[in-house]
Amino acid sequence: MSDNILSLIYTFSKKFSDPKTNLAFDPQNNNISAIIKEGNVNIFLRVSGDEIDVYKDILKLLKNNVAQIPGVISVNIALTSEKNDKKSTQKFKIDAKNIIAIASGKGGVGKSTFAVNLSVALQTLGMRVGLLDADIYGPSVPRMMGVSKKPEMNSDKKLIPIINYGIKCMSIGFILEDESPTIWRGPMIMKALEQMFNGVEWGILDYLIIDLPPGTGDAQLTLAQSSKLSGSIVISTPQEVALTDARKGINMFKKVGVDILGIVENMSYFICDNCNEKHFIFSKDGAIKEADKFKVPFLGSIPINKQLRQQSDTGQPSCIDNPDGEISKIYLMIAKKINQSLNTKRSL
Ligand code: ADP
Repeated sequence: MSDNILSLIYTFSKKFSDPKTNLAFDPQNNNISAIIKEGNVNIFLRVSGDEIDVYKDILKLLKNNVAQIPGVISVNIALTSEKNDKKSTQKFKIDAKNIIAIASGKGGVGKSTFAVNLSVALQTLGMRVGLLDADIYGPSVPRMMGVSKKPEMNSDKKLIPIINYGIKCMSIGFILEDESPTIWRGPMIMKALEQMFNGVEWGILDYLIIDLPPGTGDAQLTLAQSSKLSGSIVISTPQEVALTDARKGINMFKKVGVDILGIVENMSYFICDNCNEKHFIFSKDGAIKEADKFKVPFLGSIPINKQLRQQSDTGQPSCIDNPDGEISKIYLMIAKKINQSLNTKRSL
């Protein structure tokens, strides 16, 4: 029922454009969202500037028409302006110099493995690092970081991150009940993520690395809008089916104004034990070409490697287990690139 109402609201709202940006009011444009509770509709329009007057007619029409949808009891429309958005970026509070979201279009491309090893590599560079596992659909950071106990609460009722390998770890999996919902609604995601920021005793960090769920859903948008992301890194494997979804991720970050620090290609090639040659199983240089097309930095290629998978399974990240190995060197090189690019940006 609510889903039907929602889709009717958006069908109607898309007919109107923001007079200032010329963008249709469409969730795809990230300028409208709606919450429905027992027939009571709350619509949020994200508009630009403070000149509320130019939106008066649209508000009236939208309200009248939504009120006529069968099942709707009341309609409330709130405008959020750019100014308010800036305020809301501080909603998720954390004392971190840099917040980086690790994203992927698809699951299983190695996003969590990257988040874990990047965290270790940054820590090796002397940074104070926090790692937040926000993958609501399959939190795997605790296993990969060798963390098995659950966090305790301090006297302020804040969760204390578990420290392993010098990194402060927190996982959304810690606060989920065993019977966690398979379908997450926007407000639930918002609440859980907020708890991961405001309800955790993170202390002072140089980097908070966030392992996002795959795709382009509410969690990504919530984080982009409510926390001060310094940038995002998109992980993809080189074949077309993965790149198609990675493109959606890149476009989403561009739309919501989150800087893309770069693309990383995972499972780029396999080095055969017998011939010692590179085999490009999932096609060659797919992500490099994509980075070029989108004019975003290409950060590096990580091979498909049995040891890397074993290290993840046993909670010993590659950068810990074999810090001088070829793969760890790639992670370290990427960490240095990111650190340098953020330092440069800050000094501009
Ligand atoms: P995602 O977070 O994108 O779902 P994961 O990081 O959980 O992906 O990785 C999925 C599986 O692939 C895990 O078992 C992981 O150990 C393995 N894996 C990731 N990257 C590599 C790689 N470069 N070589 C071998 N195995 C990898």
